Amino acid sequence: MAAYDAVVAGAGPSGSTAARLLAERGASVLLLDRQRFPRDKPCGGGVTLRAAAVPDVDLSPVIERTIYGARFSLRLGESFDRTYAKPLTYMTQRCRLDAYLAEQAAAAGACFHDGESVHSVQANGRAGIQTPPPARPEAIEGPSGKTTPSFPGTSRTPVTVRTSHGIYNARVLIGADGANGVIARASGLSPHFEEAVALEGNVPFTADIPEDWREYVGIDLGGLAGGYGWVFPKGEHLNAGVGAWKYAAFTLRPKLTDLCRRYGFDASRLENLRGHHLPLRTARSPIARGPIALVGDAAGLIDPLSGEGIHMAFASGRLAADNAMRYLAGDSENMAGYQRAVDAKLQPELDISRRLQELFHFAPPPYLALMRHSEKFWLFFCHLIRGELTYLDFVRMIGPLRLALAFFAAVAQRKREARVTALLPLVRGA
Ligand SMILES: Cc1cc2nc3c(=O)[nH]c(=O)nc-3n(C[C@H](O)[C@H](O)[C@H](O)COP(=O)(O)OP(=O)(O)OC[C@H]3O[C@@H](n4cnc5c(N)ncnc54)[C@H](O)[C@@H]3O)c2cc1C
Repeated sequence: MAAYDAVVAGAGPSGSTAARLLAERGASVLLLDRQRFPRDKPCGGGVTLRAAAVPDVDLSPVIERTIYGARFSLRLGESFDRTYAKPLTYMTQRCRLDAYLAEQAAAAGACFHDGESVHSVQANGRAGIQTPPPARPEAIEGPSGKTTPSFPGTSRTPVTVRTSHGIYNARVLIGADGANGVIARASGLSPHFEEAVALEGNVPFTADIPEDWREYVGIDLGGLAGGYGWVFPKGEHLNAGVGAWKYAAFTLRPKLTDLCRRYGFDASRLENLRGHHLPLRTARSPIARGPIALVGDAAGLIDPLSGEGIHMAFASGRLAADNAMRYLAGDSENMAGYQRAVDAKLQPELDISRRLQELFHFAPPPYLALMRHSEKFWLFFCHLIRGELTYLDFVRMIGPLRLALAFFAAVAQRKREARVTALLPLVRGA
């Protein structure tokens, strides 16, 4: 049975970041993904400047466009454009970004096995779930091809990871297997999530699409329960999508058609139409147990207001690698330090974002008016996206008004939940 210091399940941005950092610091790492790479993932592929700053990797080889401006509209009504002097967001495609990040992890020394699915996990003698195995593809080894632990002196009970193709021992297991991952359940962790969903597709650039759509992202606000519609320009196509709370999933398809119609794209030309979950972690929900830690979407670390997940995927992958190194070196008893780090450094941002989301969706027009007419508001938004300010800075800036923010956000949430409870039987009966 091959043994590694760390097995990372899932080679999205969170898993590849954790695997690369661990390998760079001398750990033997096995990075697994159930899909063959390059693989696509339902995603707008927008990487904000704040996200791009986290992984210490030059993303330029996979950036198709750099965006300086946004075209806003309210419920598909009149639109207005705002621009900023510096870049706000990079546009990529996940098939390119994720393959590139996995290559970086392999170049740092991680063994990358794509097409290999984790089926069960056994830690401290407790078995996890089982799923049926698919066929065996090729493995891609990192340059070191290490299959022995680099920290053999540490007396840690290994985790046994059973995959479609083998059995591995790992001192640390990082669950980076996304919104529908198996590691959380297999390892006895049951994080609590609120559920959002999103649907997206691609419209090829053709002569009838106005040239300036290559410069702006389109954001339509206020028309979806808890979410928004977007148009993101890529090298050869526009990515159009819509996101909302899960209970409003049935609205996504017609809303996407309306979004395309409003901006003059033919919805029947949408290609690769795909939907996926966006799990939103509730505060203090468990994401680490013994030598196992969940990162990225597997831990529900998505910004509720923007639906942005790549930023937190990078950030949590980094925190998991830091804490795994401490654990492997014998400086900590388990991965609980990772959860503490997430709770201290990432979760406060997500909690404020969640409150702002409730407030914003209670009455979107005033916020959109601010975005249009207030230079200060727009600049704050730009600084936030660029990572120069945080949601916590916003709360500090508003001072005592933060109490009002918390109060009105709670009221807005209660009103929304009451509305949903009243409407759900009608929706189900329809
Ligand atoms: C429609 C949509 C649009 C979005 N747009 C944006 C955007 O523009 N910008 C942004 O920042 N965020 C966006 N997000 C969120 C973003 O896609 C996620 O937050 C991000 O992908 C999380 O990265 P991850 O590494 O945690 O998980 P993922 O990227 O989901 O990667 C998980 C990996 O685990 C693998 N896996 C699953 N199960 C197993 C198993 N049993 N064994 C081995 N491997 C397994 C999967 O194949 C996958 O490769 C969007 C989400 C959706 C649904």
